[in-house]
Amino acid sequence: MLRFFDTHAHFEGTDTVSVLDRAMAAGVVRVMAVGGSDRLNTGAVAAAKARPGHVCLALGFDRDQAGLATPDTWCLALRELVVTAGIKLSAVGEIGLDYHYAPETRELQCELFVAQLGLAAEWALPVSIHTREADEDTLRVLDSVAWPHQKPRGIIHCYTGGEAFAEELLSRGFMISFSGIVTFRNADALRRVAAVVPDDRLLVETDSPFLAPVPLRGQTNEPAFVAHTAECVAKQRGCGVSELAELTYQNAVSLLWPQQGGENE
Ligand SMILES: [Zn+2]
Repeated sequence: MLRFFDTHAHFEGTDTVSVLDRAMAAGVVRVMAVGGSDRLNTGAVAAAKARPGHVCLALGFDRDQAGLATPDTWCLALRELVVTAGIKLSAVGEIGLDYHYAPETRELQCELFVAQLGLAAEWALPVSIHTREADEDTLRVLDSVAWPHQKPRGIIHCYTGGEAFAEELLSRGFMISFSGIVTFRNADALRRVAAVVPDDRLLVETDSPFLAPVPLRGQTNEPAFVAHTAECVAKQRGCGVSELAELTYQNAVSLLWPQQGGENE
């Protein structure tokens, strides 16, 4: 049986248990539940608590929260959340920059991003990063953070950038995760990137409930659908889906689930 690790899914509190049950039934035996706002953080904690053996947790405040409070306030909120959640985090996220939707908040986004990268460095945790139309600032901010205990580690989630940007991120040690966008008809350039990411840096995700992959576009996305993205990426790379599933599963486990090893189910 194929096994998949969906490295990026959001939960909003409705239907969480049945969504996770369908994921398990589809071979998606591990999922990272990812926060980003009060609502998404709460949903992610609930998912991790509902299926602790299968769901790991990322908490953070995403770029759309920039400006709603100061970076210090958000960092304090995140510290408190981590304590009250009572679950070990696998990553800080999602965090990052998006100049497609809100270019006017660039500076605020950068401040919030750098503050939470600082927390990830302090906690020696990987990060789950959203970056869209902000290549230059993403690299500048990443390079501005001092990582006292480690090199930066993490995931560039729902990758939509070009090949040159991917090279820059790979050279800094990041993994690149592809969502259902890679299956979209107009995504030829992205599929070319998916073909060249090194084996040990490749991940797949749903970013559910958004962005359902072809042929399920228009439906509410869920982790069970990650196989369609894996199939598309496998085809681009000229390998089988079982090989791709296992490769990305092992990559995700080594980054996000190191304490449990890759083989224990
Ligand atoms: Zn997301």
